[in-house]
Amino acid sequence: MKSTADVVIIGGGIMGASTAYHLAQRGCTNVVVLEASEMFGLGSTGLNAGGIRYQFATAVNVELSKLSIDMMERFPSEMDQELGIKRCGYLFMLDSEPDLEQFRRNVALQNAHGVPSRIVSPDEIAALAPEVELTGIIGGSWCPRDGLVDPHGLLQGYVSNARRLGATLLTSTSATAIETQGDRVQRVVTNAGTIDTPAVVIAAGPWSGQVGAMAGVDLPIQPIRRQIAVTAPIAGLRPDFPFVIDFSRSLYFHREGTAILTGMSNRDEPAGFNTSVDEAWRLHHLENAMERLPLLGDAGIAAEWAGLYEVTPDDQPILGSLPQVDGLFACAGFSGHGLMHGPAAGLVLAEEILDGRATTIDIDTLRWGRFEAGVSAGEYNVV
Ligand SMILES: Cc1cc2nc3c(=O)[nH]c(=O)nc-3n(C[C@H](O)[C@H](O)[C@H](O)COP(=O)(O)OP(=O)(O)OC[C@H]3O[C@@H](n4cnc5c(N)ncnc54)[C@H](O)[C@@H]3O)c2cc1C
Repeated sequence: MKSTADVVIIGGGIMGASTAYHLAQRGCTNVVVLEASEMFGLGSTGLNAGGIRYQFATAVNVELSKLSIDMMERFPSEMDQELGIKRCGYLFMLDSEPDLEQFRRNVALQNAHGVPSRIVSPDEIAALAPEVELTGIIGGSWCPRDGLVDPHGLLQGYVSNARRLGATLLTSTSATAIETQGDRVQRVVTNAGTIDTPAVVIAAGPWSGQVGAMAGVDLPIQPIRRQIAVTAPIAGLRPDFPFVIDFSRSLYFHREGTAILTGMSNRDEPAGFNTSVDEAWRLHHLENAMERLPLLGDAGIAAEWAGLYEVTPDDQPILGSLPQVDGLFACAGFSGHGLMHGPAAGLVLAEEILDGRATTIDIDTLRWGRFEAGVSAGEYNVV
């Protein structure tokens, strides 16, 4: 293993891999990514629903989506990796006036950033998703440019292209300590040796709080279990079935091949690293899913799993340099919508490291200091 590096990145999920690629692309190739698991993609990046959307409530998230999804469009030609992007659209369904009012504001913000989303009536929802039972739904929002991407393709594209450019990406290698001298990063200790470095990136997803603690930094990122079920193939499923979200229930469906993938977030789930499937929540989820999408009643379940959201107090990531320790950076806490922001996050973090400041997108509202200042716009469109 290398004994020195210009940058050490802790975590080999989408955030670590994208950051390594963007550093190497800028000519900073003496970069080491440490991934504790024996393979890439065993963390949240390999366990998510693959959704990509522009429909967010904060300007910075809309901008992260715009940049990321543009980069995904160019991915096959630039990275020689197919991503299977499907623009099936995201259809948020709402059952309360306050939510509808908030979504009107969100759509106005998205439109101001060039996103073609719009508010839709129950009749329009019925036309877009005739399979869905609409009792209680008073309106919603729709963006036909939202859709799906292959998470493994995205991650592997960054891993292989970062390596091609000269970065070192290691599996089965855990960071066990971050050593500082004065208030500067000095080295990272791993299970396979130590690496002297002036720059360390915390990109450990749901484990980022633990990694921050290695440097004495409080990163308020909680691991929260989230479950998914995928049905067996369903005959006659429309190819353009959209990504449907029953917002107040945090319940969602999308087409996964010839089947349906569904998830439902338990708002009372305690923080923790347990990723076994919660049987009681599974039953509650499937009952709600069949109520909203009756065709599920005839479909068997083919696969189920649980993964971890990496949740901050305002559902916004912590991105950029950390003020407590010179040379320490965070790219973490994307609160359950990070896959789609990985490309842009890696690019702006590379700017932050190499140029002293991210410039392509203004990330000031995502900096750690917001917790100290008590200022937080917060993201409303969390599923
Ligand atoms: C059920 C579910 C559905 C989701 N759906 C979507 C969706 O539709 N769209 C979307 O955009 N996002 C979605 N997400 C969120 C998305 O998956 C995450 O935001 C994103 O993958 C976070 O990437 P990451 O690189 O920060 O974390 P991870 O992918 O978890 O990577 C962190 C890595 O750090 C490693 N690590 C931890 N500690 C150490 C250490 N000490 N040393 C070395 N390595 C370490 C871990 O092994 C892990 O591989 C979903 C998440 C879940 C769980």
